Amino acid sequence: MALMSAPVNSDRPFLNRRLAAFGTTIFAEMSALAARTGSINLGQGFPDTDGPAQIAEAASRAVLTGRGNQYPPGPGVPELRTAIAAHQQRFYGLTHDPDTEVLVTAGATEAIAATLLALLEPGDEAIALEPYYDSYAACIAMAGAVRVPVTLRPHAGAFVLDLDELRAAVTPRTRLLLLNTPHNPTGTVLTPAELTAIAELAVERDLLVVTDEVYEHLVFEGAHTPLAGLPGMRERTVTISSAGKTFSFTGWKVGWVTGTAELVTAVRSAKQFLTYVASGPFQYAVAEALRLPDTYFTAFREDLRAKRDLLCTGLADAGFGVFRPAGTYFITADIRPLGESDGIAFCRSLPERAGVVAIPNAVFYDHTEAGTPYVRFAFCKRTEVLMDATERLRKAFAY
Ligand code: PMP
Ligand code: GLN
Repeated sequence: MALMSAPVNSDRPFLNRRLAAFGTTIFAEMSALAARTGSINLGQGFPDTDGPAQIAEAASRAVLTGRGNQYPPGPGVPELRTAIAAHQQRFYGLTHDPDTEVLVTAGATEAIAATLLALLEPGDEAIALEPYYDSYAACIAMAGAVRVPVTLRPHAGAFVLDLDELRAAVTPRTRLLLLNTPHNPTGTVLTPAELTAIAELAVERDLLVVTDEVYEHLVFEGAHTPLAGLPGMRERTVTISSAGKTFSFTGWKVGWVTGTAELVTAVRSAKQFLTYVASGPFQYAVAEALRLPDTYFTAFREDLRAKRDLLCTGLADAGFGVFRPAGTYFITADIRPLGESDGIAFCRSLPERAGVVAIPNAVFYDHTEAGTPYVRFAFCKRTEVLMDATERLRKAFAY
């Protein structure tokens, strides 16, 4: 993986070999660049306005009334586990026992780490869709396993999974498929037909599936289909999500895992030695958030749909090739129509040229050449910020 500040570790002489390829995450690096240069930060995916005041008040009430200020129970507070199970039932018709089939984690990040550390043996192969979220590669490495990337290819304005390539990537050593839909950074949403084919493959080859669905409420075309609901999948799927994206409180770090009791027990075994527990008072607030009426979820999605459209238009006007995302709050753009070819160099120079920060997609690839001309812009920002950013990009590139 070609993290920008990665390779050989003269500055990290004590870091072990499993992690030697991993430098500072691109998100920290690019947010620091934005702060240093006073640029508009469309790099790291965090909203520039907080989530509902009512939910912030619930968090503050929890702190002041002593709910969650001491270690909460290892699996998460019962109120939140019940609310997570009710959310899965309400939106997807999936039934989970809150006591045995739900686990609260320190964000989706810990859920991913605990799941991979729990399920993978050293030497096992884990297939991930490339470009992939950066912590996948690091956690597979920490587990001593081998990542096998399957590349999403640009086709007709979207990044598409080649199911034959996925099938061909499965070997006798493959232990699990690590999916992410809606997909960061491409904005691809796997279709029900693709998910069905993946489910059939998992059953046929007896694979576990870990599915990262943190953008489940940001699907702009069609509806989110949780893989765990497909035939044969319940017993082999670990589903991961998080409050950070859906409720715009990324700093609270409340995530969760759902699955069968056997799978959740395995993940909990690893999780208890990572953080043990986290985010006590916030767990109560997220329980309340998950019970917000449907209107909250619809308004959230529609707000971001409008922002997606605004930024897509602005980027196209500035001369980028635009992959209109079907989900997430990210747009992948092609810099070649601007006469550019190297996304990493482009992102490094963008603050100076336009006063804007973006993320180079190449860092999310093993086959870096497949990601070289692409950069990612986040649109979870205020409308006026997006308008300012698109005007800056237009001035820098379109005139
Ligand atoms: N998975 C994906 C695909 C993400 O984009 C992110 C974060 N932004 C995470 C996991 C991590 O989520 P959290 O902040 O809840 O740890
Ligand atoms: N998930 C967010 C993104 O993709 C950032 C999370 C992080 O900084 N680790 O931009």
